[in-house]
Parts: sequence; structure tokens; C-alpha cells
Amino acid sequence: MPFSKLGLPPSLVNGVKAMGYVDPTPIQLRAIPVVLGGGDLIGSAQTGTGKTAAFALPVLARLGKHEPRGPRVLVLEPTRELAAQVETAFRDFGRFTDIRATVVHGGVGYGRQRSEIQAGTDIVIATPGRLMDFLNEKTLRLDNLKILILDEVDRMLDMGFVKDVKKIIAMCPRERQTLFFSATVPPEIEEVARFALRNPARVEI
Ligand code: AMP
Repeated sequence: MPFSKLGLPPSLVNGVKAMGYVDPTPIQLRAIPVVLGGGDLIGSAQTGTGKTAAFALPVLARLGKHEPRGPRVLVLEPTRELAAQVETAFRDFGRFTDIRATVVHGGVGYGRQRSEIQAGTDIVIATPGRLMDFLNEKTLRLDNLKILILDEVDRMLDMGFVKDVKKIIAMCPRERQTLFFSATVPPEIEEVARFALRNPARVEI
């Protein structure tokens, strides 16, 4: 099935075409309709399966247009490199939309990230530590959040982020869509999932 039959708007179908993608990968075929429909999802998939587009495309579709009232989507990533890659993917897929994405991670100054947040962004892609800093200083508020995505959850927990991750989940509005992606789903992750997701669909690749 081509991307144009998955229920994505033409701007995003043109975005993936511009990336040179022809057909969706298995996780994209299965996850995109679930996410477009507003459901929660646990996706077990490794990097390299196309999982970034599996969440980025339907999330961009659900956002529609830029809104200045604070981020509607938060994506948590375990490392700076992944956060930067996922931000690039959102910008690439969304190039024919006016949606704004901002990356928030440590190792660089606060100034530029702070001004992008203050200018009004739709999507924040963040590592837990720097995100907590911006939440604590109230530069970033999650009042308008509609979708929470935890990517590479197994790595995030291995790196010792479990306390921060639980705190961040608790700061998000209860009425929201939540997506979990993890290469493996051991009991520790099932526990966080029980606390964070509602009747999730499961997609295993
Ligand atoms: P990911 O698993 O999201 O890290 O993606 C792995 C690689 O596959 C990235 O370089 C993507 O650009 C590429 N990719 C993802 N989906 C597709 C697709 N449907 N067709 C071709 N390449 C893809």
C-alpha cells in the first residue's frame, strides 16, 4: 500500500516523497492508522525499521497547522544524537507544513533552545535532563500537550532516567495520546506503560 492510501494529508505524502521513500515499512503500515485514529500504542521495533516516520507522520497529520500556544507534542529521547535526528526527521517530513519543531538537549547553551520555546513551538523533542531544567524554570509548560511519545524506552531506563521519565509523565495532562517505542518490552517497561498508557494497541516488528 502506498503512503497516499494511509490517510495522511497531501502535504505529508509530498514530504515523504521528497525524502525518496516509496512504500511504507511494516511498522509504518501498522502504526500510522492507529496513531491517526488517536489511540495509544506500544511499538516494539528496533532502530532501522522506520519507526521515526511511523510516529512522526501521523503526529504531524494530527497537528495540522502551527499554533502559538505552547507545545502540543513532546518526544522523549535517551540521547542528544537521537533527539537531534528525530528533530531533523520532523522538519524533513513537515517541510510542506508550517509546524515548528524544537530540540532540547544538554551539552549546548540554553539561549537558543529557550528562545525557540518562547517563540512558540508545536513539537519539543527532548532528552530528560535538559527538559526538566526548562520545566523547573517554567520556560516550558505542558498545559497544551496532546501527544506524549517515549522513544527507545528500554535505553532511557537503562541510562537511569526512570525517575525523570515518571516525573515528566506525571506533569503531562491526563487527557492525551501516548506512544511508547522500545526494542524490547521487559516487565519494568510494562509497569511504566500501565501507568502512562490507556488500552494501547500493540505493534511488534
Ligand atoms: P528509523 O528506524 O526511523 O531510524 O529509520 C531508519 C532509516 O530508514 C532512516 O534512514 C529512514 O530515513 C529510512 N526509512 C524509513 N522509512 C522508510 C521508507 N518507508 N522507505 C525508505 N526508507 C525509509
